Amino acid sequence: MKYINKKLSIDKHYFQDIAQKYNTPTYCYSYSKLRENILNFKKNFKSISPLICFAVKSNTNVNLIQEIAKFGLGADVVSVGEMMMALKAGVNPKKIVFSGVGKTTDEIKYAIDKKILLINAESKSEIEEINRVAKIKNKIVKIGLRLNPNTDAKTLSQISTGKKENKFGVNEKTFYEIIDYCKNSKNIDLNCLSVHIGSQILDHKPYEKMLKVVDNILKKTSHKFEYIDLGGGMGIKYTDDSKKLNYKKYNLAIKKFLKNKKCKIIFEPGRSIIGNAGTLITKVIYIKDSESKKFIILDAAMNDLMRPALYGAIHKTLPVIKSGKVSKKTYEFVGPICETTDKFVTIKNFQELQEKDYVAICDAGAYGMSLSSNYNLRTKPLELLIKNNKIKIIRKRQKHKEII
Ligand SMILES: *Cc1c(COP(=O)(O)O)cnc(C)c1O
Repeated sequence: MKYINKKLSIDKHYFQDIAQKYNTPTYCYSYSKLRENILNFKKNFKSISPLICFAVKSNTNVNLIQEIAKFGLGADVVSVGEMMMALKAGVNPKKIVFSGVGKTTDEIKYAIDKKILLINAESKSEIEEINRVAKIKNKIVKIGLRLNPNTDAKTLSQISTGKKENKFGVNEKTFYEIIDYCKNSKNIDLNCLSVHIGSQILDHKPYEKMLKVVDNILKKTSHKFEYIDLGGGMGIKYTDDSKKLNYKKYNLAIKKFLKNKKCKIIFEPGRSIIGNAGTLITKVIYIKDSESKKFIILDAAMNDLMRPALYGAIHKTLPVIKSGKVSKKTYEFVGPICETTDKFVTIKNFQELQEKDYVAICDAGAYGMSLSSNYNLRTKPLELLIKNNKIKIIRKRQKHKEII
């Protein structure tokens, strides 16, 4: 994304033109950015040749998953719906891992029937259920067991998953008990140790700590795991002053960890693959002056992009056409929804905006559309993909007649 002749552009298309042609709010994805992210991710971990499973919950658009699968990536899914979507997009079932703390019996049955690579289980009860279903089907099911390494990911508390107070995974003691249980279960093949300590991680040190915990556990058991699934969580730069994750150091730590081991590594990245490849384009409906600031009331709201309301996340927000005139008052960008948390960002010294201007909310490709809802009975936005200079509609704007 860059300004050409003061107009914000993406892959040689102006957002202003896209907004006028397709209306707003609209998610717009760049294929070239997506491709770059995938190739970079592969390059960063080239020396360990991991299996990369795209975390579908970050973006469930079938066209995007299809594009991602063409690069040989698998999928990390957290519900049967996501599994269906990944399969529909052409993801190889042998590259699908199924995560989540509450898989139902029907979901387990479906996963077994589709012969996916791994069910990553998160409790003893779940494994007993997998064993029961597998026995009825007379199958041996490969599973992973998710460890809660009690490691602080140093990210927002709402997206931390690897501390002992979080619901995810099992603690060390339970981990050994489950290894023993699996040894005696004829229909379970415990094949993978999995961890995922959180999301939007920008410091490599929590990953190093996590690897140490895993290494210690592997030392204390004779059980051999074919796979070590390290999850995802690699953070992206949402703001100009944000840190950058040091992939080199993370990769080095993994290489060290893998010495004297014969395990294959699995990653489950979501945000780092699709996050900065998507932009939400929105229009200023009204500008309301209050004493200390101006409310910029947009046609996008928390139902379209929930991250700010849900976690207090900040997205860089840019004018679609640069005027050079700076507003004297602070702007608070809000949506039309009847909730005080329906607020995107507060910015000082933003350029002066007029009603009907467009603005771009950046880095909205991950956990944007996939978290959208029909709250306030608002329809879901349109999704576009720019690929090879062409703009393609990859999901139509929802119509009211579909929801009423
Ligand atoms: C959400 C999630 C991911 C993806 O996290 P990102 O931060 O988007 O990379 C990976 N694995 C599991 C188990 C998850 O729940």
